[in-house]
Amino acid sequence: GAGRMAFEEGTGGVRHGRVPLGLKRKGLRVVVTGGAGFVGSHLVDRLLARGDSVIVVDNFFTGRKENVAHHAGNPNFEMIRHDVVEPILLEVDQIYHLACPASPVHYKFNPVKTIKTNVVGTLNMLGLAKRVGARFLLTSTSEVYGDPLQHPQVETYWGNVNPIGVRSCYDEGKRTAETLTMDYHRGANLEVRIARIFNTYGPRMCIDDGRVVSNFVAQVEGLMKLMEGEHVGPFNLGNPGEFTMLELAKVVQDTIDPNARIEFRANTADDPHKRKPDITKAKELLGWEPKVALRNGLPLMVQDFRTRIFGDQKQQQP
Ligand code: NAD
Ligand code: UDP
Repeated sequence: GAGRMAFEEGTGGVRHGRVPLGLKRKGLRVVVTGGAGFVGSHLVDRLLARGDSVIVVDNFFTGRKENVAHHAGNPNFEMIRHDVVEPILLEVDQIYHLACPASPVHYKFNPVKTIKTNVVGTLNMLGLAKRVGARFLLTSTSEVYGDPLQHPQVETYWGNVNPIGVRSCYDEGKRTAETLTMDYHRGANLEVRIARIFNTYGPRMCIDDGRVVSNFVAQVEGLMKLMEGEHVGPFNLGNPGEFTMLELAKVVQDTIDPNARIEFRANTADDPHKRKPDITKAKELLGWEPKVALRNGLPLMVQDFRTRIFGDQKQQQP
């Protein structure tokens, strides 16, 4: 029936990746909302490579068809242009709910739409998960800690968030999305997972993203481990390596052009002063930790940006 896994042999009642020994898994039907975006498109690559069937649901607000274009023609891949603020009917086993602009430049562009995406969009995907009995994973954010008064941040910290600021559409939106997720878990017995992602960078990131880099996109693996594991979360997924913005600017300078000029400008409103994930929980319960150091990861993103801005021929130029 709806929401059950497909197996080579009948396994009545076996669900969600708990595959009995000796049974070959045929692959799950997975929805990735926001799958045309930066993190989502990397996740889609990994799920398809593993043999799952993937449906991407995306309205292309910040996502791009190019991010998943290499899967066109793959019978296990499907792309639906759809806004998660509207209900949708699908038959699936797992839902990775990523749809939401992640960068301040994008989520501040239309704050009311950002809230609707986080609240109504998450409600719709939870409703879908409930109807078909799918497992649901929410990509929440380190922003739920606001401008933290605890350092580093452990998952048990409740945060310090401004409810009426220009970032609130995102921070409070994600906090409500977490609340909804836990209420469906408690009230409808839904299997849920919550990840709190810290700033992530890598190839396919929006060129105008504007956020500071800190954690390489390899953490997609953390999302999959969380989905397949037994723990609800929330789990911090991020890199505990800490550096000042000036230190970061110098690494960027070294990577792109030693003559690039560093400018100092006023900060935006409500920007957290300091943030660093405590990832003890993810290490112990998911066996996950970030593997890519900034100096190794940054050149990969720079190369990707150069290719997209200048085209292949000029790739070699600084
Ligand atoms: P992104 O902007 O690249 O991707 C978001 C995707 O969601 C885009 O493809 C966009 O078109 C789509 N989308 C937005 N609103 C939608 C709507 N109403 N209906 C359907 N699709 C919609 O961002 P990302 O960096 O890939 O982030 C993915 C998720 O991870 C987001 O939920 C974000 O909040 C979370 N997250 C990301 C980071 C990070 O550093 N990248 C940090 C914390 C949390
Ligand atoms: N929903 C959806 N797809 C589904 C099932 C539900 O988009 O397959 C939406 C539904 O339209 C509603 C929301 O999810 O807006 C919450 O659904 P639920 O059944 O939990 O609550 P109710 O419809 O009873 O308010």
